[in-house]
Amino acid sequence: MGVIPLTEAPSIHPSFPPSLLAGSSEGLTEVFAALGEAIDAVRAAARPTGPIPAGAPADVLLSAAQALGPARLPAEGLGGKAALQLLATTLTEHGIDLSHPRAAAHLQPPSLAVAVAADALASATNASLDTYDSGPSAIAVERWLIGVLIDLAGLGKRADGVLTPGGSLSNLLGLLLARDAAALRLGLNARQDGVAALPGPVVFCSELAHFSVQRACAALGLGEAAVHPVPTDERRRMRPEALAAALAALTPDQTPLAVVATAGTTDFGSIDPLPQIAEIAADRGIWMHVDAAYGFGALFSERLAGRLAGLELADSVTLDLHKIGWQPAATSVLLVSDTSAFTALDREVAYLNPTDDSEAGYDGLLGRSLQTTRRPDAVKAAATFLTHGRTGMGRMVEICHDLARYAEHRILEEPELELVAPAELTTVVFRYRGGDPADSDRLNGALRRRLLESGSALIGRTEVRSGGPGSPQRVCLKFTLLNPTATADDIDGLVDAVLDAGRACVRLTEESAA
Ligand SMILES: *Cc1c(COP(=O)(O)O)cnc(C)c1O
Repeated sequence: MGVIPLTEAPSIHPSFPPSLLAGSSEGLTEVFAALGEAIDAVRAAARPTGPIPAGAPADVLLSAAQALGPARLPAEGLGGKAALQLLATTLTEHGIDLSHPRAAAHLQPPSLAVAVAADALASATNASLDTYDSGPSAIAVERWLIGVLIDLAGLGKRADGVLTPGGSLSNLLGLLLARDAAALRLGLNARQDGVAALPGPVVFCSELAHFSVQRACAALGLGEAAVHPVPTDERRRMRPEALAAALAALTPDQTPLAVVATAGTTDFGSIDPLPQIAEIAADRGIWMHVDAAYGFGALFSERLAGRLAGLELADSVTLDLHKIGWQPAATSVLLVSDTSAFTALDREVAYLNPTDDSEAGYDGLLGRSLQTTRRPDAVKAAATFLTHGRTGMGRMVEICHDLARYAEHRILEEPELELVAPAELTTVVFRYRGGDPADSDRLNGALRRRLLESGSALIGRTEVRSGGPGSPQRVCLKFTLLNPTATADDIDGLVDAVLDAGRACVRLTEESAA
């Protein structure tokens, strides 16, 4: 085949020690020694006093870039100790601290210590999930975790699941399976022929569903116009009667592919009425996907689990353990009620899973994923579940729920604050109402940026409709409380920081008007 043969074999002079590689026991020893050396740098680092470094964004980014030095591959390496110390210092001095009690911006929890330790172990093996020979024990750990989650969700014997790199991608995968199942019912093969022949695809979700539903529909070739938003009630849950009416109004040239219910909207934590939605979807034979990226973790708590009743009726479920679950990202999962749904993804690839190998049992999880190489992200979650058990996990959820309810109570007591949405799970949405009411949206935005720039508190922002359909969106502030070590005093500190920033913004506005 035109190969030019070597006339002489190259001579090889090994110059690296076994500890170069993490997988060997020398290497693993090196991993933990290196972390030990980096910890000295973390301890010596000048931590920001708040959850995020103070300063304007360009200055913060510039200091971090300067700490790293010129963007050029050094000709000679610094050695592991200096390299890790440099990065540990950079990350600590110029980064966020999600374990700070005034970090409350996003559904981005502080990582649990045991999860990070387990993640280092998982990285050390560098196993992958696609084939048997890329890591049998990693496959076993993922199957264990999926089994635990199926059991929590109550999905039954035919259920299955897979880890994905995030809730957005779990939603994409759920809708892909729904799309292909719907096409199959029409005698079409979406996998082979694409979706051009699929007449008028429609995906229903609440008007408060996550934007990734739209993006998934665009990526799946259905177009964002396929998404039909269903109105919500005063508690921000999909109105089942509106869903039924929208379904009844479909014309024969439209194909309903899926109903997406949200269990835990990102801003409000509101949970759509799953049993009613399931009944409507089942009546019409439509796939029901539940986006429980945020809300699934409520199942850890006996006090809150009942809110997810009806989840067991879903055809597919998205859940993010990197939200309520305290895992480092990414630890997202797509569960399906029937493992045959994965047929849409399955592939036979000569270099990965030839038939005779698979028949002999040498098979991995390639057929459940859009990825080929896939990180063993289940290891950190398995370590977490084994460490804390359902009681420990439930306790963490309940503390965060209580923190949100305490924050709600504090906001209601403050005349300068207005509660916009109560604590359903672990978020609270509110507004600062000092200053000129006509200037309120600008003021709330400026208030949050002021907190960011001061580095004293990390809070969220969103927009909420002020009244019924068609009423204007108003800028609101949001606490997302995911720190199970925080206390009521910490919430007081957070509310006080908001009040101080609000008053300072009002003062500045008045001064510049004068
Ligand atoms: C966070 C979230 C997502 C997206 O998950 P990522 O892991 O950030 O991709 C999807 N749906 C809901 C309801 C979410 O809160």
